[in-house]
Amino acid sequence: MSAKIISGAEIAEQIRQELRKDIASLKEKGVTPGLAVVLVGEDPASQSYVRMKGKACEELGLFSQTIVKPADTSEEELLALIDSLNADPRIHGILVQLPLPKHIDENKVILRIDPNKDVDGFHPINVGKMLIGEPGFLPCTPHGIQEMLIRSGVDPEGKHVVVVGRSNIVGKPVAAILVQKRKGANATVTIAHSRTRDLASITRSADILVAAMGSPQFIKADMVREGAVVIDVGSNRIDDPSAKRGYRWVGDVDFEAVKEKASAITPVPGGVGPMTIVMLMKNTVLSASRALEAD
Ligand code: NDP
Repeated sequence: MSAKIISGAEIAEQIRQELRKDIASLKEKGVTPGLAVVLVGEDPASQSYVRMKGKACEELGLFSQTIVKPADTSEEELLALIDSLNADPRIHGILVQLPLPKHIDENKVILRIDPNKDVDGFHPINVGKMLIGEPGFLPCTPHGIQEMLIRSGVDPEGKHVVVVGRSNIVGKPVAAILVQKRKGANATVTIAHSRTRDLASITRSADILVAAMGSPQFIKADMVREGAVVIDVGSNRIDDPSAKRGYRWVGDVDFEAVKEKASAITPVPGGVGPMTIVMLMKNTVLSASRALEAD
Protein backbone atom coordinates (compact mmCIF):
# COMPACT_ATOMS: atom_id res chain seq x y z
CA MET A 1 0.00 0.00 0.00
CA SER A 2 1.28 3.41 -0.90
CA ALA A 3 1.55 5.97 1.92
CA LYS A 4 -0.54 9.09 2.29
CA ILE A 5 1.65 12.03 1.29
CA ILE A 6 1.68 14.69 3.99
CA SER A 7 1.94 17.93 2.06
CA GLY A 8 3.81 20.58 4.02
CA ALA A 9 3.02 23.02 1.23
CA GLU A 10 -0.75 22.56 1.75
CA ILE A 11 -0.59 22.69 5.53
CA ALA A 12 1.60 25.80 5.35
CA GLU A 13 -1.07 27.42 3.15
CA GLN A 14 -3.75 26.67 5.78
CA ILE A 15 -1.58 28.33 8.42
CA ARG A 16 -0.97 31.33 6.14
CA GLN A 17 -4.75 31.77 5.81
CA GLU A 18 -5.06 31.83 9.59
CA LEU A 19 -2.18 34.27 9.88
CA ARG A 20 -3.78 36.65 7.36
CA LYS A 21 -6.65 37.16 9.80
CA ASP A 22 -4.30 37.77 12.74
CA ILE A 23 -2.22 40.19 10.68
CA ALA A 24 -5.31 42.12 9.55
CA SER A 25 -6.47 42.50 13.14
CA LEU A 26 -3.00 43.66 14.26
CA LYS A 27 -2.92 46.18 11.41
CA GLU A 28 -6.31 47.52 12.51
CA LYS A 29 -4.68 48.23 15.86
CA GLY A 30 -1.82 50.04 14.10
CA VAL A 31 0.78 47.27 14.27
CA THR A 32 2.46 45.66 11.27
CA PRO A 33 4.53 42.64 12.35
CA GLY A 34 8.13 43.11 11.26
CA LEU A 35 10.96 40.64 10.69
CA ALA A 36 14.64 41.46 10.23
CA VAL A 37 16.79 38.84 8.55
CA VAL A 38 20.54 39.28 8.80
CA LEU A 39 22.89 37.54 6.41
CA VAL A 40 26.66 37.72 6.75
CA GLY A 41 28.62 36.56 3.72
CA GLU A 42 27.64 35.06 0.40
CA ASP A 43 26.83 31.42 1.02
CA PRO A 44 24.45 30.54 -1.86
CA ALA A 45 22.20 28.25 0.25
CA SER A 46 21.89 30.95 2.93
CA GLN A 47 21.16 33.58 0.27
CA SER A 48 18.35 31.43 -1.06
CA TYR A 49 16.86 30.82 2.44
CA VAL A 50 17.00 34.55 3.16
CA ARG A 51 15.25 35.34 -0.14
CA MET A 52 12.49 32.82 0.64
CA LYS A 53 11.94 34.35 4.08
CA GLY A 54 11.71 37.88 2.61
CA LYS A 55 9.25 36.67 -0.03
CA ALA A 56 7.10 34.94 2.58
CA CYS A 57 6.90 38.21 4.58
CA GLU A 58 5.97 40.13 1.46
CA GLU A 59 3.18 37.68 0.55
CA LEU A 60 1.63 38.08 3.99
CA GLY A 61 2.06 41.86 4.10
CA LEU A 62 4.60 41.81 6.94
CA PHE A 63 7.28 44.46 7.25
CA SER A 64 10.57 42.84 6.38
CA GLN A 65 14.11 44.05 6.39
CA THR A 66 16.91 42.00 4.89
CA ILE A 67 20.33 43.16 5.96
CA VAL A 68 23.26 41.71 4.02
CA LYS A 69 26.75 42.23 5.43
CA PRO A 70 30.09 41.30 3.86
CA ALA A 71 31.82 38.10 5.01
CA ASP A 72 34.56 40.12 6.76
CA THR A 73 32.08 41.94 9.03
CA SER A 74 33.49 41.97 12.55
CA GLU A 75 31.76 40.37 15.51
CA GLU A 76 31.48 43.81 17.19
CA GLU A 77 29.76 45.25 14.12
CA LEU A 78 27.27 42.40 14.02
CA LEU A 79 26.55 42.71 17.74
CA ALA A 80 25.99 46.46 17.31
CA LEU A 81 23.55 45.76 14.47
CA ILE A 82 21.64 43.34 16.71
CA ASP A 83 21.50 45.99 19.46
CA SER A 84 19.94 48.41 17.00
CA LEU A 85 17.37 45.82 15.84
CA ASN A 86 16.57 44.96 19.47
CA ALA A 87 15.75 48.64 19.99
CA ASP A 88 13.77 49.10 16.76
CA PRO A 89 10.01 49.11 17.47
CA ARG A 90 9.18 48.19 13.84
CA ILE A 91 11.02 44.88 14.28
CA HIS A 92 9.30 42.08 16.21
CA GLY A 93 11.50 39.24 15.03
CA ILE A 94 15.24 39.01 14.43
CA LEU A 95 16.79 36.14 12.59
CA VAL A 96 20.50 35.78 11.98
CA GLN A 97 21.03 33.30 9.17
CA LEU A 98 23.40 30.53 10.23
CA PRO A 99 26.12 29.44 9.71
CA LEU A 100 28.11 32.61 10.37
CA PRO A 101 31.69 33.10 9.14
CA LYS A 102 34.21 31.31 11.38
CA HIS A 103 35.62 34.47 13.01
CA ILE A 104 32.21 35.23 14.57
CA ASP A 105 31.06 33.39 17.69
CA GLU A 106 27.53 32.15 16.87
CA ASN A 107 26.59 31.63 20.50
CA LYS A 108 27.57 35.18 21.40
CA VAL A 109 25.41 36.52 18.56
CA ILE A 110 22.38 34.42 19.51
CA LEU A 111 22.75 35.51 23.15
CA ARG A 112 22.65 39.15 22.09
CA ILE A 113 19.22 38.85 20.41
CA ASP A 114 16.42 40.04 22.70
CA PRO A 115 14.69 36.75 23.70
CA ASN A 116 11.36 38.52 23.04
CA LYS A 117 12.40 38.96 19.39
CA ASP A 118 14.12 35.58 19.00
CA VAL A 119 11.66 34.15 16.46
CA ASP A 120 14.10 31.36 15.56
CA GLY A 121 13.83 30.09 19.15
CA PHE A 122 17.61 29.59 19.46
CA HIS A 123 18.29 31.87 22.45
CA PRO A 124 19.09 29.79 25.57
CA ILE A 125 16.16 31.47 27.38
CA ASN A 126 13.75 30.15 24.74
CA VAL A 127 15.48 26.76 24.61
CA GLY A 128 15.03 26.52 28.39
CA LYS A 129 11.39 27.56 28.19
CA MET A 130 10.76 24.95 25.51
CA LEU A 131 12.28 22.27 27.72
CA ILE A 132 10.24 23.17 30.80
CA GLY A 133 7.10 23.73 28.74
CA GLU A 134 6.76 27.50 29.29
CA PRO A 135 5.61 29.80 26.48
CA GLY A 136 8.49 31.40 24.58
CA PHE A 137 9.34 30.90 20.93
CA LEU A 138 9.59 27.35 19.63
CA PRO A 139 12.18 26.73 16.91
CA CYS A 140 10.55 26.76 13.47
CA THR A 141 11.48 23.39 11.97
CA PRO A 142 10.66 21.25 15.05
CA HIS A 143 7.48 23.19 15.76
CA GLY A 144 6.52 22.85 12.08
CA ILE A 145 6.96 19.08 12.36
CA GLN A 146 4.60 18.95 15.35
CA GLU A 147 2.01 21.07 13.49
CA MET A 148 2.27 18.85 10.45
CA LEU A 149 1.63 15.73 12.49
CA ILE A 150 -1.35 17.21 14.31
CA ARG A 151 -2.92 18.78 11.23
CA SER A 152 -2.59 15.58 9.23
CA GLY A 153 -4.40 13.64 11.95
CA VAL A 154 -1.36 11.94 13.49
CA ASP A 155 -1.54 12.39 17.26
CA PRO A 156 1.91 11.75 18.77
CA GLU A 157 0.35 10.83 22.15
CA GLY A 158 1.59 7.47 23.38
CA LYS A 159 3.46 6.80 20.14
CA HIS A 160 7.09 5.85 19.93
CA VAL A 161 8.86 8.67 18.09
CA VAL A 162 12.39 7.95 16.92
CA VAL A 163 14.38 11.04 15.92
CA VAL A 164 17.54 10.34 13.96
CA GLY A 165 19.80 13.36 14.52
CA ARG A 166 20.64 15.36 17.65
CA SER A 167 21.42 18.84 16.37
CA ASN A 168 20.40 21.87 18.40
CA ILE A 169 18.20 23.14 15.59
CA VAL A 170 16.27 19.99 14.67
CA GLY A 171 16.92 16.70 16.48
CA LYS A 172 17.08 17.78 20.12
CA PRO A 173 14.25 20.34 19.97
CA VAL A 174 11.86 18.05 18.05
CA ALA A 175 12.38 15.47 20.78
CA ALA A 176 11.91 18.10 23.52
CA ILE A 177 8.65 19.33 21.95
CA LEU A 178 7.10 15.91 21.37
CA VAL A 179 7.91 14.60 24.85
CA GLN A 180 6.08 17.48 26.61
CA LYS A 181 3.19 16.57 28.86
CA ARG A 182 0.50 18.19 26.76
CA LYS A 183 -1.94 17.74 23.89
CA GLY A 184 -0.24 17.26 20.54
CA ALA A 185 2.80 15.77 22.29
CA ASN A 186 2.95 13.10 25.06
CA ALA A 187 5.12 10.87 22.87
CA THR A 188 7.72 8.37 23.99
CA VAL A 189 10.87 9.67 22.34
CA THR A 190 14.17 8.06 21.39
CA ILE A 191 16.99 10.14 19.92
CA ALA A 192 19.50 8.33 17.71
CA HIS A 193 22.75 9.67 16.25
CA SER A 194 25.96 8.61 14.57
CA ARG A 195 27.15 6.69 17.66
CA THR A 196 23.90 4.76 18.03
CA ARG A 197 24.40 0.99 17.90
CA ASP A 198 22.12 -1.00 15.57
CA LEU A 199 20.26 2.04 14.26
CA ALA A 200 17.96 -0.03 12.03
CA SER A 201 16.50 -1.99 14.95
CA ILE A 202 15.69 1.30 16.69
CA THR A 203 14.19 3.00 13.62
CA ARG A 204 12.09 -0.13 13.00
CA SER A 205 10.53 0.31 16.44
CA ALA A 206 9.23 3.79 15.54
CA ASP A 207 5.56 4.59 15.11
CA ILE A 208 6.74 8.02 13.95
CA LEU A 209 10.22 8.28 12.43
CA VAL A 210 11.83 11.71 12.08
CA ALA A 211 14.93 11.69 9.88
CA ALA A 212 17.15 14.76 10.45
CA MET A 213 20.61 13.62 9.49
CA GLY A 214 21.70 15.45 6.36
CA SER A 215 22.53 12.15 4.68
CA PRO A 216 20.82 11.72 1.30
CA GLN A 217 18.30 8.83 1.12
CA PHE A 218 19.94 7.08 4.07
CA ILE A 219 16.73 5.65 5.58
CA LYS A 220 15.81 2.59 3.50
CA ALA A 221 12.59 0.60 3.52
CA ASP A 222 14.08 -2.15 5.72
CA MET A 223 14.69 0.47 8.43
CA VAL A 224 11.00 1.38 8.62
CA ARG A 225 8.13 -0.49 10.21
CA GLU A 226 5.06 -1.30 8.09
CA GLY A 227 2.52 1.48 8.70
CA ALA A 228 4.93 3.97 10.33
CA VAL A 229 4.63 7.72 9.78
CA VAL A 230 7.83 9.13 8.30
CA ILE A 231 8.88 12.78 8.55
CA ASP A 232 11.83 13.59 6.32
CA VAL A 233 13.65 16.74 7.43
CA GLY A 234 16.68 16.22 5.22
CA SER A 235 17.39 18.72 2.50
CA ASN A 236 20.25 17.45 0.37
CA ARG A 237 21.30 18.62 -3.08
CA ILE A 238 22.47 15.74 -5.23
CA ASP A 239 23.84 15.73 -8.77
CA ASP A 240 21.36 14.64 -11.41
CA PRO A 241 22.46 15.05 -15.02
CA SER A 242 18.87 14.35 -16.16
CA ALA A 243 17.55 17.38 -14.24
CA LYS A 244 17.41 20.77 -15.96
CA ARG A 245 19.77 22.38 -13.44
CA GLY A 246 22.00 19.30 -13.15
CA TYR A 247 20.92 18.64 -9.56
CA ARG A 248 17.85 17.90 -7.46
CA TRP A 249 16.82 17.98 -3.82
CA VAL A 250 16.31 14.79 -1.86
CA GLY A 251 15.62 14.05 1.78
CA ASP A 252 17.28 11.68 4.24
CA VAL A 253 14.73 9.01 3.32
CA ASP A 254 14.65 6.75 0.28
CA PHE A 255 11.21 8.16 -0.57
CA GLU A 256 10.15 5.83 -3.42
CA ALA A 257 10.85 2.65 -1.45
CA VAL A 258 9.74 3.88 1.97
CA LYS A 259 6.41 5.23 0.72
CA GLU A 260 5.38 1.66 -0.11
CA LYS A 261 5.80 0.70 3.53
CA ALA A 262 4.85 3.77 5.54
CA SER A 263 1.26 4.82 6.24
CA ALA A 264 2.15 8.49 5.74
CA ILE A 265 5.28 10.29 4.59
CA THR A 266 6.47 13.83 3.88
CA PRO A 267 8.02 14.58 0.48
CA VAL A 268 11.18 16.57 -0.25
CA PRO A 269 10.72 19.22 -1.49
CA GLY A 270 7.25 20.31 -0.33
CA GLY A 271 7.33 18.69 3.12
CA VAL A 272 9.09 20.11 6.15
CA GLY A 273 10.69 23.03 4.23
CA PRO A 274 7.51 25.11 3.71
CA MET A 275 6.50 24.43 7.33
CA THR A 276 9.76 25.94 8.61
CA ILE A 277 9.11 29.20 6.78
CA VAL A 278 5.47 29.51 7.80
CA MET A 279 6.31 28.85 11.46
CA LEU A 280 8.79 31.72 11.26
CA MET A 281 5.97 33.95 10.03
CA LYS A 282 3.76 32.63 12.85
CA ASN A 283 6.41 33.43 15.47
CA THR A 284 6.82 36.96 14.06
CA VAL A 285 3.06 37.56 14.27
CA LEU A 286 3.03 36.09 17.79
CA SER A 287 5.84 38.41 18.80
CA ALA A 288 3.97 41.44 17.43
CA SER A 289 0.81 40.42 19.35
CA ARG A 290 2.80 40.03 22.56
CA ALA A 291 4.46 43.43 22.05
CA LEU A 292 1.03 45.02 21.59
CA GLU A 293 -0.29 43.35 24.77
CA ALA A 294 2.76 44.52 26.70
CA ASP A 295 2.22 48.16 25.61
P1 NDP B 1 23.49 18.33 11.59
O1 NDP B 1 24.56 17.96 10.63
O2 NDP B 1 23.72 19.45 12.55
O3 NDP B 1 23.09 17.04 12.44
C1 NDP B 1 22.93 15.80 11.84
C2 NDP B 1 22.65 14.78 12.90
O4 NDP B 1 22.45 13.52 12.26
C3 NDP B 1 23.78 14.61 13.90
O5 NDP B 1 23.25 14.50 15.20
C4 NDP B 1 24.45 13.30 13.46
O6 NDP B 1 25.00 12.57 14.53
C5 NDP B 1 23.28 12.54 12.87
N1 NDP B 1 23.73 11.60 11.84
C6 NDP B 1 24.40 11.89 10.70
N2 NDP B 1 24.65 10.76 10.01
C7 NDP B 1 24.14 9.73 10.76
C8 NDP B 1 24.09 8.34 10.60
N3 NDP B 1 24.63 7.75 9.54
N4 NDP B 1 23.47 7.61 11.53
C9 NDP B 1 22.92 8.19 12.62
N5 NDP B 1 22.93 9.53 12.83
C10 NDP B 1 23.53 10.29 11.90
O7 NDP B 1 22.21 18.61 10.70
P2 NDP B 1 20.87 19.44 10.99
O8 NDP B 1 20.14 18.88 12.15
O9 NDP B 1 21.17 20.88 10.96
O10 NDP B 1 20.05 19.11 9.65
C11 NDP B 1 19.69 17.80 9.31
C12 NDP B 1 19.10 17.81 7.91
O11 NDP B 1 17.92 18.59 7.93
C13 NDP B 1 19.98 18.45 6.83
O12 NDP B 1 19.77 17.78 5.62
C14 NDP B 1 19.47 19.87 6.75
O13 NDP B 1 19.70 20.45 5.48
C15 NDP B 1 18.00 19.62 6.96
N6 NDP B 1 17.27 20.77 7.46
C16 NDP B 1 16.08 21.06 6.83
C17 NDP B 1 15.32 22.09 7.28
C18 NDP B 1 14.04 22.35 6.59
O14 NDP B 1 13.41 23.36 6.85
N7 NDP B 1 13.59 21.47 5.70
C19 NDP B 1 15.72 22.95 8.40
C20 NDP B 1 16.93 22.51 9.05
C21 NDP B 1 17.67 21.46 8.57
P3 NDP B 1 26.21 13.13 15.46
O15 NDP B 1 25.58 14.15 16.36
O16 NDP B 1 26.67 11.95 16.20
O17 NDP B 1 27.22 13.72 14.54
